Amino acid sequence: MTIKRSSFLRNMAFGLSASFVLAACGGAGTETAEPTDGEPIAEETTEATEGGAGALTVATEPAFPPFEFQAEDGELQGFDIDLMNAIGETAGLEIQFESLPFDGIIPALQAGTVDAAISGMTITEERLETVDFSRPYIKAGLAIAVKEEDTDINGLADLEDKRIAVQIGTTGADQAAEVPGAEVSTFDSAPLALQELSNGNVDAVINDAPVTLDAIESGNIEGLKVVGELLTTEFYGIALPKDSENVEVINDALMTMMEDGTYAEIYQKWFGDEPPELPESAF
Ligand code: GLN
Repeated sequence: MTIKRSSFLRNMAFGLSASFVLAACGGAGTETAEPTDGEPIAEETTEATEGGAGALTVATEPAFPPFEFQAEDGELQGFDIDLMNAIGETAGLEIQFESLPFDGIIPALQAGTVDAAISGMTITEERLETVDFSRPYIKAGLAIAVKEEDTDINGLADLEDKRIAVQIGTTGADQAAEVPGAEVSTFDSAPLALQELSNGNVDAVINDAPVTLDAIESGNIEGLKVVGELLTTEFYGIALPKDSENVEVINDALMTMMEDGTYAEIYQKWFGDEPPELPESAF
């Protein structure tokens, strides 16, 4: 089933609905390869083309729908998966995914055991000290989720002294750590943190808005709502080891895909909307 979260960008008032510059540039080339439900747009793996740069091992933490998740048969799916496979096809690179815990991804990049990572990972100043990132490929931000019946918590200020669940090693965890008096519990994945809230064991979750909204709208997690404004504006990037030659390879492929409509097609498949304009760099 194709997951369409047509409303998330609009609902969260990302305010970019008029900025279809990239989509407009790529509009002419979008009629290729109608995506079939649940199937990645690109082939799972692509033979490295003659003169191509070879193969890339790409880490991901596959419990972050709609960006990456596992189908019942274990197959990786999601916006990031389709995007990375399409980058591989564009750049002539064979893409091999490797599932890792989210907080193990940057250490793996530093150790050189993986070549890249696509995992809904926010480009942050702190991470840029240890890894490189591609240009931004998605705009997101953090949101607060609470129980549907909760009327006390309406924004960040109301989280003081409350119990907050987060995913370990994330920007949501960083944000929760700043809340005075909050009791923060960490989980290995975002769905586990949201489930803890659904079970009534915590008062709130701070997590990426698109993922929290997907969990609520898909019915995967019950009885929750998002409150207040987005706490942050964040851009996701593909992470690479410092000074990797693949930064340029991936950026070139992303640029090509943004111009020829491939990016817009993948965006449409997962979010049911035209992609918003993205800056060339996060900072
Ligand atoms: N975007 C958030 C971060 O980078 C969460 C990513 C994730 O959980 N996969 O920290």
